[in-house]
Amino acid sequence: MYRTHTCGELRIGNAGQKVTLAGWVQRSRRLGGMTFIDLRDRYGITQLVVEADAEPALVEAATSLGREYVIQVTGEVLERQSKNPKMPTGEIEIKVASINILNKSVTPPFTIEDETDGGEDIRAKYRYLDLRRAPLRRALELRHRVAHEVRNYLDSKGFMEIETPYLIKSTPEGARDFVVPSRMNPGQFYALPQSPQTFKQLLMVAGYDRYFQIVRCFRDEDLRADRQPEFTQIDCEMSFVEQEDVLQTFEGMMRTLFKNVLNVEVPDPLPRMSWYDAMDFYGSDKPDIRFDMKLHEVTALVQGHGFGVFDSVPYVGAIAVPGAAEWSRKELDALTEWVKRPQVGAKGLVYVKLGGDGSVKSSVDKFYSPEDLKAVADACGAAAGDLLLILCGEKRKTQTQLGVLRLELGGRLGFRDPKVFAPLWIVDFPLLEWDDETQRFYAMHHPFTAPKPEHLDLFYSDRKEDLEKVCANAYDFVLNGNELGGGSIRIHDAAMQKRMFEVLGIGEEEADYKFGFIINAFKFGAPPHGGLASSAGRTPSVTTSHSRRTTRAAT
Ligand code: ASP
Repeated sequence: MYRTHTCGELRIGNAGQKVTLAGWVQRSRRLGGMTFIDLRDRYGITQLVVEADAEPALVEAATSLGREYVIQVTGEVLERQSKNPKMPTGEIEIKVASINILNKSVTPPFTIEDETDGGEDIRAKYRYLDLRRAPLRRALELRHRVAHEVRNYLDSKGFMEIETPYLIKSTPEGARDFVVPSRMNPGQFYALPQSPQTFKQLLMVAGYDRYFQIVRCFRDEDLRADRQPEFTQIDCEMSFVEQEDVLQTFEGMMRTLFKNVLNVEVPDPLPRMSWYDAMDFYGSDKPDIRFDMKLHEVTALVQGHGFGVFDSVPYVGAIAVPGAAEWSRKELDALTEWVKRPQVGAKGLVYVKLGGDGSVKSSVDKFYSPEDLKAVADACGAAAGDLLLILCGEKRKTQTQLGVLRLELGGRLGFRDPKVFAPLWIVDFPLLEWDDETQRFYAMHHPFTAPKPEHLDLFYSDRKEDLEKVCANAYDFVLNGNELGGGSIRIHDAAMQKRMFEVLGIGEEEADYKFGFIINAFKFGAPPHGGLASSAGRTPSVTTSHSRRTTRAAT
């Protein structure tokens, strides 16, 4: 046997036992003739000690060890003189009787400690060394635990895990496809799935009723902090369900995950917010509700006072920043520059300071009396000592800018505590979004999402204004400002699916060529169905995301 125990296993109760351990040398140090070695494996670290009066060959072997050498040692478990309460094995050490060097190591390019001196690039180049570090190991352990819990939970609810192919015909989800050339058919390509969307729907047609898969998805998108070209999602589909059934099932799954993996209780039931409220009050379809600082529309209050900037736009909105009336001119100038950065895209920033003494000072004093500004402050629920920040322009664009500003200031003011979890559902998404650039509609979620039954008249209308009003039973699971999942009730009727492609400007021939297989399947008794997929690093359904729009032209 290479080892009798792991490096994370031995406790005071093992004192007196003869053991064999194997692992990597984390560090070794000499103290008054004794050599102390920290031996590490996936399970933990155990301290080894080679006494000063040990055999010379043993002392020599101990002193020759370098960082990351792989060794096997035998020895006796002893109670430590000076215990380390921070380590699970901190009450014992191994008095080494023999050392067997299994493999040497060159000096690693960075320290393999929780806090390392290695930068991103070097750690990526030597990922196998980086993965020896506890923070990365913990991340993989967490992921494993989540996968395990998901399988248990979904199995207990009657879901079947089914694999679907990777080399396929395109499944549009709003991004570009990665393609793989076919050797057998020169000039032709497979696409890698952006998700198993059409497959899981075909499984419903086939009668599988409750499907899930922990599956890799591929989306050829520009890199961003919250996006990766390939990512894993928990993909599910259910038959004979309404939106409520899907939400209940996955709320249960999320609650179980939070409880069993993080020991965190999340609200029961989870809050729900319509997409319209999320946009109006948070300027985002993935609102961070750990803090308030909501958006308020003040258009009617500020127009008609001779201030051309406000008078010439359809929307003026404000947020009240608590306790920020003290901010200096310099800070406000810097903030104005910040909102003008292309990432935010505002043209300027108007501020109103509500002094603790009841005074009102603003960058638009010329046009508004203190009473006018107090009325605006009241509409925003702002109090003395607060700072009002106002942006204006086209409605959704300005709300999005205010949303970005809100998140930035929430972060600066310490309102976004990473230890607080505030999940919620966003529901009632519009089915479609209009793109001015390409003069056509795009599916807000994906082209397989059904309109709400009560909006069918609007869906079959030819007027743009009507189509813009169609809502879907589509939903996103949002946590702390991140979209962690999304899904919808699907179209299960061939004629309605054809109409959807027509609305999206996809001609009959093209629709038949690209999606004929699914339209056809719907002719063979497709059950009503819906589902959801959950992951981090997926394409968020952000309406205002320019990159999504342009990449979606590929659909
Ligand atoms: N296929 C969708 C996605 O990957 C999720 C779903 O609608 O079930 O975003």
